[in-house]
Amino acid sequence: MKLRNHLKKYANLLLRKGVNLQEGQELLLSAPIDAKDLVEEIVTIAYKDIKSGRVHINWNYGKLTRISFDYANEDVLLNIPEYSIMKYREVLDNGAAMLSIIASDPKLLAGVDPSLLAKVSKENAIKMKPISTEVMSGKVRWSLGAMPSEAWAKTVFPNVEPEEAVEKLWEYIFACTRVDQDDPIKAWNEHEDHLNNKKQFLNEKKFVKLHYKAPGTDLTVELPKNHIWVAGPKIATDDKSFIPNIPTEEVFTLNKRNGVNGTLSSTMPLNLNGNLIEDFSFVFENGKVVDFDAKVGKESLAKLLEMDEGVKYLGEVALVPVDSPISNLNTIFYNTLYDENASCHFALGKAYPYTLKDGTEMSEDQLLEAGANISLTHVDFMVGSKELSIDAYDSEGNVTPIFRNGNWA
Ligand code: ZN
Ligand code: ZN
Repeated sequence: MKLRNHLKKYANLLLRKGVNLQEGQELLLSAPIDAKDLVEEIVTIAYKDIKSGRVHINWNYGKLTRISFDYANEDVLLNIPEYSIMKYREVLDNGAAMLSIIASDPKLLAGVDPSLLAKVSKENAIKMKPISTEVMSGKVRWSLGAMPSEAWAKTVFPNVEPEEAVEKLWEYIFACTRVDQDDPIKAWNEHEDHLNNKKQFLNEKKFVKLHYKAPGTDLTVELPKNHIWVAGPKIATDDKSFIPNIPTEEVFTLNKRNGVNGTLSSTMPLNLNGNLIEDFSFVFENGKVVDFDAKVGKESLAKLLEMDEGVKYLGEVALVPVDSPISNLNTIFYNTLYDENASCHFALGKAYPYTLKDGTEMSEDQLLEAGANISLTHVDFMVGSKELSIDAYDSEGNVTPIFRNGNWA
């Protein structure tokens, strides 16, 4: 594998397809220090080929986060400085796009007090709310891509040497993102056509209810009037397209906030702030989680569910066949960006307003009124498997099988 050459293609894909960076446009790039080679390629393409505006960089280093949780006074963790928010404010006012590179460590915060973690992430979410609301409303073109950290690679491939694990994870990332193909941009255009077909089918049908059946799962999910199925590229308010997640295989919409009933079991571990939650399940009544269990990490899950009222309700319904390029690798990535694109999933918490007609122009009260969930957070978890079947109901009660044995029916 020619890593450097692939890094160039990856950087190009993230800029051209991901955020669709334009001449003169600024970019806010968040990246771990491990990503320096990739960042070099991104900045080179931005300035040299795209003639972009300034590229602002937010470097991060996971170990420092761990050190601060281990040793810093609580008020250090809870007082998020105003300037860190103002930085976002200023660059977004300049019309910047936002690109984030993640190199997660699934065990980074293992053992940290879950209630402290929950408090800090809630504080962060409150402080960042004006920014995240703007980003989620479609005014900002943004994208997210991943790269291996040694810790992540060792979690995914525990039986090989660290160096080999990193190389293997890069290979998997390049396969999933189609960067290993001759012309990744062309491959993405074809992939987008495929996603568009599914999306159009679902939007034309205007289903009112989905029924999920799998071992440990028997769940009905109502869809609100005017829901929109979304997939692949999105159109920002400036009419330019962008792809928020690379890779992306999902077709998704929102559920009706109060319209979820039954039992739901996870099929993959959830990495929540560096804590793994495994073999968990929920019972829903009129949309709300009324009972839950987890074989591992139950306390972390309990803390998550205490964050606010909205986190006890679902906000996203996503369909992904089990034969997507990612799931065909038969690997648990312990990383939501990858695992959610290998599996049907839901999210606890906030619904994306753009999955509802005119949703991006609605106030929180109007969104609630229309059936969309509101929360400070949005946490995906996986429910897909070869044993999952989904039936869809239209307003006249006609049934259409849409998933059988984990794949599109
Ligand atoms: Zn999703
Ligand atoms: Zn999601």
